Amino acid sequence: MDLLAGLREIVGDTHVVTDPDAVAPYAQDWTRRWHGKPLAVVRPATVAQVSAVVRACAAAGVPLVPQGGNTGLVGAGVPQDGEVVLSLARLDSIGPLDPLGKTLMAGAGVTLAQVQRTAREAGLDVGLDFSARDTATVGGIAATNAGGERVMRHGVARFRIRGLEAVLADGSVVRRMSTVAKDNTGYDLVQLLIGSEGTLGVITAVQVDLIHPRKIIGTALVAVSTVDDALTVLRAVQHDFPGLEAAEFFHHDGLQLVLKHERRARPFDRPHPLYLLFDLSDGDGRPDAGEELTELLGGLDCVRDLVVVSTSAERRRLWELRELQTDAVSAEGVPVKLDVALPLNQLSTFERRLAGVVRPVARHAMPILFGHIAEGNVHVNLLNALDEDAEGAVMEAVLDLVASLGGSISAEHGIGLANARWLTLTRSSADLAAMRAIKQALDPEGILSPGRMLPDAAPALKRP
Ligand SMILES: Cc1cc2nc3c(=O)[nH]c(=O)nc-3n(C[C@H](O)[C@H](O)[C@H](O)COP(=O)(O)OP(=O)(O)OC[C@H]3O[C@@H](n4cnc5c(N)ncnc54)[C@H](O)[C@@H]3O)c2cc1C
Repeated sequence: MDLLAGLREIVGDTHVVTDPDAVAPYAQDWTRRWHGKPLAVVRPATVAQVSAVVRACAAAGVPLVPQGGNTGLVGAGVPQDGEVVLSLARLDSIGPLDPLGKTLMAGAGVTLAQVQRTAREAGLDVGLDFSARDTATVGGIAATNAGGERVMRHGVARFRIRGLEAVLADGSVVRRMSTVAKDNTGYDLVQLLIGSEGTLGVITAVQVDLIHPRKIIGTALVAVSTVDDALTVLRAVQHDFPGLEAAEFFHHDGLQLVLKHERRARPFDRPHPLYLLFDLSDGDGRPDAGEELTELLGGLDCVRDLVVVSTSAERRRLWELRELQTDAVSAEGVPVKLDVALPLNQLSTFERRLAGVVRPVARHAMPILFGHIAEGNVHVNLLNALDEDAEGAVMEAVLDLVASLGGSISAEHGIGLANARWLTLTRSSADLAAMRAIKQALDPEGILSPGRMLPDAAPALKRP
């Protein structure tokens, strides 16, 4: 039996998609930079079906790429020509929620927003948030070890996930859901699979560790002139307000794009070079924290403008100026997109030297920088630079600079296809050898997402 017929037998005719129009949304990534022509999109509904699909593809020697919400930004979740897209969207059951142990079970295809809603209905929360919440799935979030806006308080995804169920490359199913908070029995396969970007296993369910939420009582938008000033403000706020929940930043150019494409109102009468956004919770038991924050910020010489709000409508208005940056950049064009992290004491050097390394390789590049300032996490979007990046010259210029300053070439989006070539900048040959050994042990035939993550050529596709 040929592979497609076998897949139809497993998941049913309607869930093996080959019609080009129906395949299109799965075949191109969110940024529109990465795309391929898959053999088919397969949409299983149970872990048993996922296992059978993996076995069938392995037997036919056809690689597959797991896909959740397809909001990934490094080309890891879209197919290369001839691969099978394994969509986990139909694994969408949610619950049970254990209010005492504070955990929630969710199928891999459940979106972050659904998990947040279910947790909040029980008076709890997830401790993870970012603007792709309505589409990004918990399977994708686990596979990318996603970060976002709550990392400074609650950590990246690997701190918020207690257990997983996954199908390995031979079709076997590992299930590590833990009813206890302490469990030191053997190698930590859960943590190994988190951040593996679909290269070591297909995640079919996630056990999320929930938190007791804190109430946000104040949100501040602060305008400053330079990155050094931004860090001065961040230090002062962190020092005086242990209840700080989020600290984000964006620049004038990014705000202009949000005003232009997303039609939002400008936050201040006059423009400023750089903006900081803070969320303050009631965590340190100070009911007047909003006023105290206004007082602190108002007393800092480097603060050029300031607004502190408390209602949820006002908060949303300020947060949209930050969260809509990714969409606004995308509305302007297809950027060369990087997601780097710098030690905080190198952040201003990075921003100062960026134009100098980019201009020689992409004369017309327009950098739009924003991100999560508490972690030194900068989303670098270079508009008008894609043509010059065909051979990777633009990526290389920026990532060389990041590595020379002791930073990370991928803070939260992952490696995928976009960054694989540059893994050697920050990982030693011993490190890479250990990673290859893990991949070889768990996926000896290279069936799962070949060519992503490790800087090795993908094995040639076998045609079914
Ligand atoms: C507007 C916007 C804002 C964003 N903001 C942030 C942010 O603040 N922080 C952040 O970290 N990311 C952010 N992202 C990136 C993206 O949303 C995250 O990487 C998210 O975790 C991807 O989830 P997904 O379900 O869309 O995964 P996909 O895009 O479908 O896949 C991403 C990767 O995970 C793998 N994968 C997906 N599902 C599974 C599975 N079940 N089993 C195994 N592997 C799987 C894929 O093969 C691929 O390697 C943003 C993206 C957008 C578009």
